[in-house]
Amino acid sequence: MGPDKIGIMGGTFDPIHYGHLVTAEAAREKFCLDKVIFVPSGNPPHKKNKEISPGIDRVNMTVLATANNPFFEVSDIELKRDGYTYTVDTLKEFIKIYGENTRFYFITGADAVMEILTWKDVSTILKLCRIVSAYRPGSDINKFRSMVDELERVHRSNIHLIEVPALAISSTEIRERVKSGITIKYLLPEKVERYILEKGLYK
Ligand code: NAP
Repeated sequence: MGPDKIGIMGGTFDPIHYGHLVTAEAAREKFCLDKVIFVPSGNPPHKKNKEISPGIDRVNMTVLATANNPFFEVSDIELKRDGYTYTVDTLKEFIKIYGENTRFYFITGADAVMEILTWKDVSTILKLCRIVSAYRPGSDINKFRSMVDELERVHRSNIHLIEVPALAISSTEIRERVKSGITIKYLLPEKVERYILEKGLYK
């Protein structure tokens, strides 16, 4: 038996939608992951001037969305941390919990990965995990490919690109729809839709 393989699904999840769930499930299947832990982001340095829903709401929505998949878990590890939250610290915390022999796959959006050279301790991140970079249909794949080639050349990293058609759905679009009073049905799980409406998020 090989090492345990765990997916860390990092994102703002404001709100979580079917595109994220399909991404996590596709990565789980493709890389034979034992589980995928969703980690709603804490206080990321690159979102200083942006309005993000409270962490507790993003965690609650993520719990509601993932509850019926036995391979999915949610961690509030980044919300408990003071100051800015960095992916490198999150990975180190999970290594402490699961041990050095576990193989980690950090799953997130390709547009986020495009900025990875600006993240704290990028060379450590690339040593501690493999990256699964999910892109939307219609994205410029050549742009992602050349970035990945460069990272692999310089850092000897392991980065996988996966196209996820369901990522035609986006959190930004969902927030705009709610604001304009347009339906969000079928874009995210019903329980999450109800949570958004009851809490009056994105109004
Ligand atoms: P973002 O800028 O909000 O999102 C970038 C793009 O990726 C958006 O199109 C987004 O679509 C998509 N996306 C985000 N998470 C995704 C996921 N898990 N699966 C599929 N698509 C996803 O990026 P972010 O959410 O803030 O950051 C992504 C992850 O990178 C987080 O875990 C964050 O903590 C980490 N990060 C770390 C650092 C650092 O350590 N310094 C810096 C930046 C980001 P939707 O809007 O539809 O989700």
